[in-house]
Amino acid sequence: MKQFDVVIAGGAMAGMTLALAINKRAPQPLSIAVVEPFNADNLAHPGFDSRSIALSYGTVSILKQLGLWADIAPVATPINQIHVSDRSHAGMVDISSQEVGLESLGYVVELADVGRIYQKCVTQDENIQLFCPASVVEIEREQALATVVLDNGETLSTKLLVAADGAVSTCCQKVGLELSEHDFDQVAVIANVTTEQAHKGRAFERFTASGPVALLPMSEGRMSLVWCLKPQDAQAMMALDEQAFLSELQTMFGWRLGKLEKVGQRASYPLLLRYRQQNISHRFAIVGNAAQTLHPIAGQGFNLGIRDVASLAEEIARHSEDPGAYSVLSKFKQRRQADRHATISLTSSLVHIFSNDYLSLRIGRNLGLAMMDNIPPLKAPLLARTLGLVTR
Ligand SMILES: Cc1cc2nc3c(=O)[nH]c(=O)nc-3n(C[C@H](O)[C@H](O)[C@H](O)COP(=O)(O)OP(=O)(O)OC[C@H]3O[C@@H](n4cnc5c(N)ncnc54)[C@H](O)[C@@H]3O)c2cc1C
Repeated sequence: MKQFDVVIAGGAMAGMTLALAINKRAPQPLSIAVVEPFNADNLAHPGFDSRSIALSYGTVSILKQLGLWADIAPVATPINQIHVSDRSHAGMVDISSQEVGLESLGYVVELADVGRIYQKCVTQDENIQLFCPASVVEIEREQALATVVLDNGETLSTKLLVAADGAVSTCCQKVGLELSEHDFDQVAVIANVTTEQAHKGRAFERFTASGPVALLPMSEGRMSLVWCLKPQDAQAMMALDEQAFLSELQTMFGWRLGKLEKVGQRASYPLLLRYRQQNISHRFAIVGNAAQTLHPIAGQGFNLGIRDVASLAEEIARHSEDPGAYSVLSKFKQRRQADRHATISLTSSLVHIFSNDYLSLRIGRNLGLAMMDNIPPLKAPLLARTLGLVTR
Protein backbone atom coordinates (compact mmCIF):
# COMPACT_ATOMS: atom_id res chain seq x y z
CA MET A 1 0.00 0.00 0.00
CA LYS A 2 1.37 3.46 -0.94
CA GLN A 3 1.16 6.14 1.75
CA PHE A 4 0.50 9.86 1.25
CA ASP A 5 -0.23 12.88 3.43
CA VAL A 6 -3.01 13.98 1.05
CA VAL A 7 -4.83 12.09 -1.73
CA ILE A 8 -6.88 14.20 -4.14
CA ALA A 9 -9.57 12.42 -6.21
CA GLY A 10 -10.00 14.35 -9.48
CA GLY A 11 -7.28 16.10 -11.44
CA ALA A 12 -9.14 18.93 -13.18
CA MET A 13 -9.21 22.66 -12.29
CA ALA A 14 -9.89 22.24 -8.56
CA GLY A 15 -7.84 19.07 -7.91
CA MET A 16 -4.72 20.12 -9.81
CA THR A 17 -4.78 23.65 -8.34
CA LEU A 18 -5.11 22.15 -4.85
CA ALA A 19 -2.14 19.78 -5.31
CA LEU A 20 0.05 22.68 -6.46
CA ALA A 21 -1.32 25.01 -3.76
CA ILE A 22 -0.61 22.58 -0.88
CA ASN A 23 2.87 22.06 -2.24
CA LYS A 24 3.47 25.79 -2.39
CA ARG A 25 1.99 26.62 1.03
CA ALA A 26 3.17 23.74 3.25
CA PRO A 27 6.15 24.72 5.44
CA GLN A 28 7.65 21.23 4.97
CA PRO A 29 7.15 18.95 1.94
CA LEU A 30 3.95 16.88 2.02
CA SER A 31 3.45 13.81 -0.16
CA ILE A 32 0.45 14.34 -2.42
CA ALA A 33 -1.33 11.95 -4.81
CA VAL A 34 -3.73 13.07 -7.54
CA VAL A 35 -6.01 10.38 -9.00
CA GLU A 36 -7.56 11.20 -12.41
CA PRO A 37 -9.16 8.94 -15.04
CA PHE A 38 -8.16 11.11 -18.05
CA ASN A 39 -4.85 12.41 -19.35
CA ALA A 40 -4.88 16.21 -19.88
CA ASP A 41 -4.40 15.86 -23.65
CA ASN A 42 -7.30 13.38 -23.95
CA LEU A 43 -10.13 15.18 -25.77
CA ALA A 44 -12.59 13.24 -23.59
CA HIS A 45 -11.23 14.83 -20.37
CA PRO A 46 -14.40 16.15 -18.69
CA GLY A 47 -12.59 18.92 -16.78
CA PHE A 48 -10.14 20.12 -19.46
CA ASP A 49 -12.51 20.16 -22.43
CA SER A 50 -13.28 22.72 -25.16
CA ARG A 51 -14.78 25.24 -22.70
CA SER A 52 -13.27 28.65 -22.01
CA ILE A 53 -13.85 30.21 -18.61
CA ALA A 54 -13.42 33.69 -17.17
CA LEU A 55 -11.03 33.94 -14.24
CA SER A 56 -11.89 36.86 -11.97
CA TYR A 57 -9.38 39.41 -10.72
CA GLY A 58 -9.46 37.66 -7.31
CA THR A 59 -8.76 34.24 -8.86
CA VAL A 60 -5.79 35.62 -10.76
CA SER A 61 -4.48 37.11 -7.49
CA ILE A 62 -4.66 33.64 -5.84
CA LEU A 63 -2.93 32.04 -8.84
CA LYS A 64 -0.20 34.70 -8.58
CA GLN A 65 0.28 33.97 -4.86
CA LEU A 66 0.65 30.27 -5.73
CA GLY A 67 3.24 31.02 -8.39
CA LEU A 68 1.00 29.54 -11.12
CA TRP A 69 -0.02 32.67 -13.01
CA ALA A 70 3.28 33.12 -14.86
CA ASP A 71 2.64 29.82 -16.71
CA ILE A 72 -1.03 30.58 -17.43
CA ALA A 73 -0.68 34.28 -18.39
CA PRO A 74 0.66 33.61 -21.95
CA VAL A 75 -2.57 31.73 -22.85
CA ALA A 76 -4.96 34.17 -21.09
CA THR A 77 -6.90 37.01 -22.74
CA PRO A 78 -7.62 40.09 -20.56
CA ILE A 79 -11.16 41.41 -20.05
CA ASN A 80 -11.09 45.22 -20.08
CA GLN A 81 -14.80 45.89 -20.15
CA ILE A 82 -18.01 44.03 -19.28
CA HIS A 83 -21.21 45.13 -20.98
CA VAL A 84 -24.50 43.80 -19.54
CA SER A 85 -27.75 44.42 -21.43
CA ASP A 86 -31.33 43.24 -21.76
CA ARG A 87 -32.49 42.41 -25.29
CA SER A 88 -35.00 44.96 -26.70
CA HIS A 89 -34.87 47.12 -23.55
CA ALA A 90 -32.92 50.15 -22.46
CA GLY A 91 -31.34 48.96 -19.19
CA MET A 92 -27.65 48.25 -19.35
CA VAL A 93 -24.53 48.28 -17.19
CA ASP A 94 -20.97 48.92 -18.27
CA ILE A 95 -18.02 48.06 -16.08
CA SER A 96 -14.55 48.98 -17.23
CA SER A 97 -11.13 48.22 -15.78
CA GLN A 98 -10.37 51.96 -15.84
CA GLU A 99 -13.46 52.74 -13.74
CA VAL A 100 -12.44 50.28 -11.02
CA GLY A 101 -8.73 51.17 -11.28
CA LEU A 102 -7.52 47.68 -12.18
CA GLU A 103 -5.25 46.51 -14.98
CA SER A 104 -8.04 44.17 -16.12
CA LEU A 105 -11.35 42.84 -14.79
CA GLY A 106 -10.29 39.22 -15.29
CA TYR A 107 -8.93 36.88 -17.93
CA VAL A 108 -10.37 34.22 -20.23
CA VAL A 109 -8.58 30.88 -20.51
CA GLU A 110 -9.25 27.74 -22.51
CA LEU A 111 -9.50 24.83 -20.08
CA ALA A 112 -7.56 22.54 -22.45
CA ASP A 113 -4.58 24.96 -22.28
CA VAL A 114 -4.68 25.10 -18.48
CA GLY A 115 -4.90 21.30 -18.36
CA ARG A 116 -1.68 20.91 -20.35
CA ILE A 117 0.12 23.51 -18.20
CA TYR A 118 -1.06 21.96 -14.92
CA GLN A 119 -0.15 18.43 -15.99
CA LYS A 120 3.38 19.61 -16.80
CA CYS A 121 3.72 21.40 -13.41
CA VAL A 122 2.42 18.37 -11.50
CA THR A 123 4.58 15.80 -13.28
CA GLN A 124 7.70 17.95 -12.74
CA ASP A 125 7.08 18.14 -8.99
CA GLU A 126 8.65 15.37 -6.93
CA ASN A 127 6.17 15.80 -4.03
CA ILE A 128 3.16 15.12 -6.26
CA GLN A 129 2.41 11.74 -7.80
CA LEU A 130 -0.20 11.56 -10.55
CA PHE A 131 -2.20 8.30 -10.82
CA CYS A 132 -3.59 8.55 -14.33
CA PRO A 133 -5.57 6.93 -15.85
CA ALA A 134 -7.15 5.76 -12.58
CA SER A 135 -10.24 6.48 -10.52
CA VAL A 136 -11.23 6.06 -6.90
CA VAL A 137 -13.71 3.21 -6.49
CA GLU A 138 -13.67 2.43 -2.75
CA ILE A 139 -12.99 4.37 0.45
CA GLU A 140 -12.47 3.09 3.97
CA ARG A 141 -11.76 5.25 6.98
CA GLU A 142 -10.21 4.57 10.36
CA GLN A 143 -9.28 6.90 13.21
CA ALA A 144 -5.98 8.16 11.77
CA LEU A 145 -6.17 7.20 8.07
CA ALA A 146 -8.35 6.89 5.00
CA THR A 147 -7.71 4.07 2.53
CA VAL A 148 -8.57 4.53 -1.12
CA VAL A 149 -8.90 1.71 -3.66
CA LEU A 150 -8.34 2.57 -7.33
CA ASP A 151 -9.97 0.87 -10.31
CA ASN A 152 -6.55 -0.53 -11.35
CA GLY A 153 -6.37 -2.42 -8.03
CA GLU A 154 -3.83 -0.10 -6.35
CA THR A 155 -4.47 0.97 -2.75
CA LEU A 156 -3.40 4.32 -1.28
CA SER A 157 -3.52 5.32 2.36
CA THR A 158 -3.71 8.96 3.44
CA LYS A 159 -4.25 11.30 6.37
CA LEU A 160 -6.69 13.33 4.23
CA LEU A 161 -8.77 12.42 1.18
CA VAL A 162 -10.03 15.42 -0.83
CA ALA A 163 -12.92 14.98 -3.26
CA ALA A 164 -12.33 17.19 -6.31
CA ASP A 165 -14.12 14.68 -8.52
CA GLY A 166 -16.83 16.94 -9.90
CA ALA A 167 -20.59 17.38 -9.54
CA VAL A 168 -21.57 13.72 -9.30
CA SER A 169 -18.60 12.86 -6.99
CA THR A 170 -18.23 9.13 -6.45
CA CYS A 171 -16.19 9.95 -3.33
CA CYS A 172 -19.01 11.95 -1.72
CA GLN A 173 -21.45 9.14 -2.56
CA LYS A 174 -19.16 6.55 -0.96
CA VAL A 175 -18.81 8.67 2.16
CA GLY A 176 -22.57 9.31 2.22
CA LEU A 177 -22.64 13.10 1.94
CA GLU A 178 -26.06 14.32 0.94
CA LEU A 179 -26.54 16.17 -2.36
CA SER A 180 -29.17 18.88 -2.99
CA GLU A 181 -30.11 19.42 -6.63
CA HIS A 182 -32.14 22.01 -8.49
CA ASP A 183 -32.68 21.60 -12.23
CA PHE A 184 -32.71 25.03 -13.91
CA ASP A 185 -34.39 23.47 -16.94
CA GLN A 186 -31.75 25.10 -19.14
CA VAL A 187 -28.89 23.84 -21.29
CA ALA A 188 -25.73 25.85 -22.07
CA VAL A 189 -24.63 25.75 -25.71
CA ILE A 190 -20.97 26.70 -26.04
CA ALA A 191 -18.82 27.42 -29.11
CA ASN A 192 -16.10 29.73 -30.33
CA VAL A 193 -17.36 32.51 -32.59
CA THR A 194 -15.47 34.80 -34.97
CA THR A 195 -16.85 38.33 -35.30
CA GLU A 196 -16.48 41.04 -37.94
CA GLN A 197 -15.27 43.64 -35.42
CA ALA A 198 -12.40 43.12 -32.98
CA HIS A 199 -13.54 42.46 -29.40
CA LYS A 200 -10.88 44.76 -27.90
CA GLY A 201 -11.08 42.92 -24.59
CA ARG A 202 -14.83 43.43 -24.19
CA ALA A 203 -17.06 40.76 -22.61
CA PHE A 204 -20.81 40.82 -23.22
CA GLU A 205 -23.70 39.38 -21.23
CA ARG A 206 -27.11 39.82 -22.81
CA PHE A 207 -30.38 38.70 -21.25
CA THR A 208 -32.93 37.49 -23.75
CA ALA A 209 -36.40 35.98 -23.43
CA SER A 210 -34.95 32.54 -24.14
CA GLY A 211 -32.03 32.88 -21.64
CA PRO A 212 -28.71 34.69 -21.14
CA VAL A 213 -26.09 34.90 -23.91
CA ALA A 214 -22.46 35.59 -22.94
CA LEU A 215 -19.57 36.29 -25.29
CA LEU A 216 -16.09 36.38 -23.74
CA PRO A 217 -12.97 37.70 -25.50
CA MET A 218 -10.43 35.06 -26.53
CA SER A 219 -7.11 34.78 -28.30
CA GLU A 220 -6.83 35.17 -32.10
CA GLY A 221 -9.79 37.58 -32.12
CA ARG A 222 -12.26 34.80 -31.29
CA MET A 223 -15.09 35.03 -28.76
CA SER A 224 -16.26 32.26 -26.47
CA LEU A 225 -20.03 31.84 -26.52
CA VAL A 226 -22.13 30.52 -23.61
CA TRP A 227 -25.82 30.56 -24.58
CA CYS A 228 -28.28 29.27 -21.97
CA LEU A 229 -31.52 28.00 -23.47
CA LYS A 230 -34.54 25.86 -22.65
CA PRO A 231 -33.56 22.22 -23.34
CA GLN A 232 -35.77 21.91 -26.45
CA ASP A 233 -34.41 25.21 -27.88
CA ALA A 234 -30.84 24.14 -27.17
CA GLN A 235 -31.45 20.87 -28.99
CA ALA A 236 -32.79 22.81 -31.98
CA MET A 237 -29.75 25.19 -31.95
CA MET A 238 -27.34 22.25 -31.80
CA ALA A 239 -29.00 20.73 -34.87
CA LEU A 240 -28.81 23.87 -37.06
CA ASP A 241 -26.16 24.25 -39.74
CA GLU A 242 -23.47 26.89 -39.19
CA GLN A 243 -25.16 29.73 -41.09
CA ALA A 244 -28.60 29.17 -39.55
CA PHE A 245 -27.04 29.00 -36.06
CA LEU A 246 -25.13 32.26 -36.62
CA SER A 247 -28.25 33.97 -37.87
CA GLU A 248 -30.26 32.94 -34.75
CA LEU A 249 -27.41 34.06 -32.51
CA GLN A 250 -27.13 37.37 -34.34
CA THR A 251 -30.83 38.04 -33.73
CA MET A 252 -30.41 37.40 -30.01
CA PHE A 253 -27.05 39.10 -29.51
CA GLY A 254 -27.41 42.05 -31.91
CA TRP A 255 -24.74 43.85 -33.94
CA ARG A 256 -22.40 45.25 -31.27
CA LEU A 257 -19.54 43.23 -32.80
CA GLY A 258 -20.73 43.55 -36.40
CA LYS A 259 -21.54 40.36 -38.30
CA LEU A 260 -21.02 37.06 -36.53
CA GLU A 261 -18.93 35.34 -39.18
CA LYS A 262 -17.94 31.83 -38.11
CA VAL A 263 -18.78 29.34 -35.40
CA GLY A 264 -16.62 26.41 -34.29
CA GLN A 265 -17.74 23.06 -32.92
CA ARG A 266 -20.68 23.33 -30.53
CA ALA A 267 -21.04 21.46 -27.22
CA SER A 268 -23.88 21.46 -24.68
CA TYR A 269 -24.14 21.18 -20.86
CA PRO A 270 -27.36 20.62 -18.88
CA LEU A 271 -27.52 23.21 -16.08
CA LEU A 272 -28.23 22.14 -12.51
CA LEU A 273 -27.39 23.61 -9.13
CA ARG A 274 -25.75 20.86 -7.12
CA TYR A 275 -24.82 21.57 -3.56
CA ARG A 276 -23.51 19.63 -0.60
CA GLN A 277 -24.25 21.39 2.67
CA GLN A 278 -21.57 19.33 4.45
CA ASN A 279 -18.17 19.97 2.87
CA ILE A 280 -16.21 17.86 5.36
CA SER A 281 -16.41 14.44 7.01
CA HIS A 282 -13.94 12.29 8.94
CA ARG A 283 -10.54 12.58 7.16
CA PHE A 284 -12.42 13.95 4.15
CA ALA A 285 -12.95 17.39 2.53
CA ILE A 286 -14.64 18.55 -0.68
CA VAL A 287 -13.60 21.33 -3.08
CA GLY A 288 -14.79 22.78 -6.39
CA ASN A 289 -17.72 21.35 -8.32
CA ALA A 290 -17.95 18.38 -5.95
CA ALA A 291 -18.96 20.86 -3.23
CA GLN A 292 -21.13 23.08 -5.43
CA THR A 293 -21.89 23.23 -9.14
CA LEU A 294 -23.35 26.56 -10.26
CA HIS A 295 -25.21 27.95 -13.26
CA PRO A 296 -22.63 29.71 -15.48
CA ILE A 297 -24.72 32.93 -15.66
CA ALA A 298 -22.21 34.95 -13.64
CA GLY A 299 -19.10 32.87 -14.42
CA GLN A 300 -18.61 32.04 -10.73
CA GLY A 301 -17.99 28.25 -10.75
CA PHE A 302 -14.21 27.92 -10.62
CA ASN A 303 -13.88 31.41 -9.17
CA LEU A 304 -15.71 30.05 -6.11
CA GLY A 305 -13.98 26.65 -6.29
CA ILE A 306 -10.51 28.18 -6.15
CA ARG A 307 -11.47 29.90 -2.88
CA ASP A 308 -12.28 26.41 -1.43
CA VAL A 309 -8.87 25.30 -2.67
CA ALA A 310 -6.95 28.28 -1.27
CA SER A 311 -8.60 28.09 2.17
CA LEU A 312 -8.04 24.33 2.47
CA ALA A 313 -4.38 24.66 1.39
CA GLU A 314 -3.86 27.42 3.99
CA GLU A 315 -5.41 25.35 6.81
CA ILE A 316 -3.35 22.29 5.83
CA ALA A 317 -0.20 24.45 5.88
CA ARG A 318 -1.00 25.59 9.43
CA HIS A 319 -1.18 21.96 10.67
CA SER A 320 0.96 20.13 8.14
CA GLU A 321 1.85 17.37 10.65
CA ASP A 322 -1.72 16.03 10.28
CA PRO A 323 -3.58 17.57 7.30
CA GLY A 324 -6.70 15.47 8.01
CA ALA A 325 -7.07 16.42 11.70
CA TYR A 326 -10.54 17.52 12.80
CA SER A 327 -9.22 20.99 13.72
CA VAL A 328 -8.05 21.54 10.11
CA LEU A 329 -11.33 20.36 8.63
CA SER A 330 -13.63 22.25 10.98
CA LYS A 331 -11.72 25.51 10.40
CA PHE A 332 -11.94 24.92 6.63
CA LYS A 333 -15.69 24.34 6.89
CA GLN A 334 -16.21 27.45 8.99
CA ARG A 335 -14.16 29.64 6.62
CA ARG A 336 -16.08 28.51 3.54
CA GLN A 337 -19.63 28.78 4.84
CA ALA A 338 -20.51 32.45 4.20
CA ASP A 339 -18.86 32.72 0.76
CA ARG A 340 -20.40 29.48 -0.51
CA HIS A 341 -23.90 30.55 0.57
CA ALA A 342 -23.58 34.10 -0.75
CA THR A 343 -22.24 33.04 -4.17
CA ILE A 344 -24.81 30.27 -4.61
CA SER A 345 -27.66 32.66 -3.65
CA LEU A 346 -26.40 35.41 -5.94
CA THR A 347 -26.06 33.05 -8.90
CA SER A 348 -29.46 31.43 -8.40
CA SER A 349 -31.18 34.84 -7.98
CA LEU A 350 -29.60 36.08 -11.21
CA VAL A 351 -30.89 33.01 -13.05
CA HIS A 352 -34.39 33.64 -11.72
CA ILE A 353 -34.42 37.38 -12.43
CA PHE A 354 -32.80 37.21 -15.85
CA SER A 355 -34.28 34.03 -17.30
CA ASN A 356 -37.93 34.99 -16.91
CA ASP A 357 -39.91 37.26 -19.15
CA TYR A 358 -42.68 38.26 -16.72
CA LEU A 359 -43.46 41.97 -17.20
CA SER A 360 -42.78 42.87 -13.55
CA LEU A 361 -39.38 41.15 -13.62
CA ARG A 362 -38.54 42.73 -16.96
CA ILE A 363 -39.32 46.24 -15.68
CA GLY A 364 -37.54 45.54 -12.39
CA ARG A 365 -34.35 44.26 -13.98
CA ASN A 366 -34.21 47.12 -16.48
CA LEU A 367 -34.62 49.63 -13.69
CA GLY A 368 -32.05 47.69 -11.68
CA LEU A 369 -29.52 47.68 -14.52
CA ALA A 370 -30.05 51.41 -15.21
CA MET A 371 -29.78 52.29 -11.49
CA MET A 372 -26.69 50.19 -11.04
CA ASP A 373 -25.05 51.94 -13.94
CA ASN A 374 -25.75 55.37 -12.46
CA ILE A 375 -25.42 54.80 -8.71
CA PRO A 376 -21.96 53.39 -7.91
CA PRO A 377 -22.82 52.13 -4.35
CA LEU A 378 -25.46 49.82 -5.88
CA LYS A 379 -22.92 48.41 -8.29
CA ALA A 380 -20.28 47.82 -5.63
CA PRO A 381 -21.43 44.53 -3.94
CA LEU A 382 -22.16 42.76 -7.24
CA LEU A 383 -18.93 44.10 -8.66
CA ALA A 384 -16.88 42.87 -5.69
CA ARG A 385 -18.19 39.30 -6.03
CA THR A 386 -17.84 39.39 -9.85
CA LEU A 387 -14.23 40.45 -9.44
CA GLY A 388 -13.71 37.74 -6.83
CA LEU A 389 -12.81 40.28 -4.12
CA VAL A 390 -14.36 38.20 -1.36
CA THR A 391 -13.34 37.51 2.24
CA ARG A 392 -12.51 33.85 2.85
C1 LIG B 1 -20.70 26.37 -19.98
C2 LIG B 1 -19.90 26.65 -18.74
C3 LIG B 1 -19.25 27.85 -18.58
C4 LIG B 1 -18.52 28.13 -17.42
N1 LIG B 1 -17.91 29.36 -17.28
C5 LIG B 1 -17.22 29.63 -16.16
C6 LIG B 1 -16.57 30.89 -15.99
O1 LIG B 1 -16.61 31.77 -16.86
N2 LIG B 1 -15.86 31.11 -14.84
C7 LIG B 1 -15.77 30.16 -13.85
O2 LIG B 1 -15.13 30.40 -12.83
N3 LIG B 1 -16.38 28.96 -13.99
C8 LIG B 1 -17.09 28.68 -15.10
N4 LIG B 1 -17.69 27.45 -15.25
C9 LIG B 1 -17.52 26.45 -14.17
C10 LIG B 1 -16.15 25.77 -14.22
O3 LIG B 1 -15.92 25.24 -15.51
C11 LIG B 1 -16.12 24.65 -13.18
O4 LIG B 1 -16.47 25.21 -11.93
C12 LIG B 1 -14.76 23.99 -13.04
O5 LIG B 1 -14.20 23.66 -14.30
C13 LIG B 1 -14.93 22.74 -12.17
O6 LIG B 1 -13.71 22.11 -11.92
P1 LIG B 1 -13.60 20.91 -10.88
O7 LIG B 1 -12.18 20.48 -10.94
O8 LIG B 1 -14.18 21.28 -9.58
O9 LIG B 1 -14.57 19.77 -11.43
P2 LIG B 1 -14.58 18.95 -12.81
O10 LIG B 1 -14.14 19.81 -13.94
O11 LIG B 1 -15.92 18.33 -12.90
O12 LIG B 1 -13.48 17.81 -12.60
C14 LIG B 1 -13.68 16.64 -11.88
C15 LIG B 1 -12.57 15.67 -12.25
O13 LIG B 1 -12.70 14.49 -11.45
C16 LIG B 1 -12.44 13.36 -12.25
N5 LIG B 1 -13.13 12.21 -11.61
C17 LIG B 1 -14.43 11.86 -11.69
N6 LIG B 1 -14.68 10.76 -10.95
C18 LIG B 1 -13.49 10.40 -10.39
C19 LIG B 1 -13.10 9.34 -9.50
N7 LIG B 1 -13.97 8.43 -9.07
N8 LIG B 1 -11.80 9.28 -9.13
C20 LIG B 1 -10.90 10.20 -9.56
N9 LIG B 1 -11.22 11.23 -10.37
C21 LIG B 1 -12.50 11.32 -10.79
C22 LIG B 1 -13.00 13.73 -13.61
O14 LIG B 1 -12.40 12.96 -14.64
C23 LIG B 1 -12.63 15.21 -13.70
O15 LIG B 1 -11.39 15.42 -14.32
C24 LIG B 1 -18.43 27.16 -16.39
C25 LIG B 1 -19.07 25.92 -16.56
C26 LIG B 1 -19.81 25.67 -17.71
C27 LIG B 1 -20.51 24.34 -17.84
